[in-house]
Amino acid sequence: MKIIMLGAPGAGKGTQAKMISDKYGIPHISTGDIFRANIKNGTELGKKAKTYMDQGLLVPDELVVDLVVDRVAQDDCAKGYVLDGFPRTIPQAEALDAALEKMGSKVGYAINVEVPDENIVTRMSGRRACVSCGATYHIVHIPPKTEGICDRCGAKLILRDDDKPETVKKRLAVYHEQTQPLIDYYTKQNVLVEVDGTKDMEEVFAAICRILGE
Ligand code: ADP
Ligand code: ADP
Ligand code: ZN
Repeated sequence: MKIIMLGAPGAGKGTQAKMISDKYGIPHISTGDIFRANIKNGTELGKKAKTYMDQGLLVPDELVVDLVVDRVAQDDCAKGYVLDGFPRTIPQAEALDAALEKMGSKVGYAINVEVPDENIVTRMSGRRACVSCGATYHIVHIPPKTEGICDRCGAKLILRDDDKPETVKKRLAVYHEQTQPLIDYYTKQNVLVEVDGTKDMEEVFAAICRILGE
């Protein structure tokens, strides 16, 4: 089960990817989480990525492709994985396809989580992310059991720097320009499926499970 999550920033890709990962027992690979962990640990990659992320821009393809290609080649990915936040450009998708082909593998499902732009800015301003495990919450829609504390691991929840409204608007523009073309790309490969991301979290997940099979 090799799955790609597509959708605007804040559409709920990460939320659904975590649920898929738990239910089907496959790794959740989030490039945003990988970059944030690198920033936290002060690595060279983290330093480079941060300058782009803070502006709402995409990190250059060459900094992300090898990282993901190496990750999906690891043993725990043999049965499948859910990629969240990658690919985000046509060249990234082409590089992934080429690498998978060499491994005798291919993308099984590209799940497009559809949410109109109008809903995104409010969603993002309410997003809270765990500094430790990357779990996300929403102060109104999906609150943690204890305010400011992660249900999964007990660490602190923060508002991401790039979730400020000005940066979110920039990220949405970047999404439409660079990432949305992937919808056509995966439609042509006959692997695109769509779910209505405006429904509540459990309903969206139920729709995904119907597609993937129980
Ligand atoms: P969101 O969950 O809002 O979609 P992510 O956590 O996936 O955001 O990504 C945060 C930021 O990390 C992006 O705005 C971008 O700067 C960078 N990033 C993550 N994945 C990629 C990628 N595949 N290619 C380029 N940049 C990326
Ligand atoms: P993405 O990974 O696509 O950027 P997230 O999964 O982080 O998106 O979700 C963005 C924000 O919206 C988070 O605050 C999350 O808790 C909230 N959220 C996710 N799914 C839903 C939903 N179905 N309805 C309402 N809010 C949601
Ligand atoms: Zn946590």
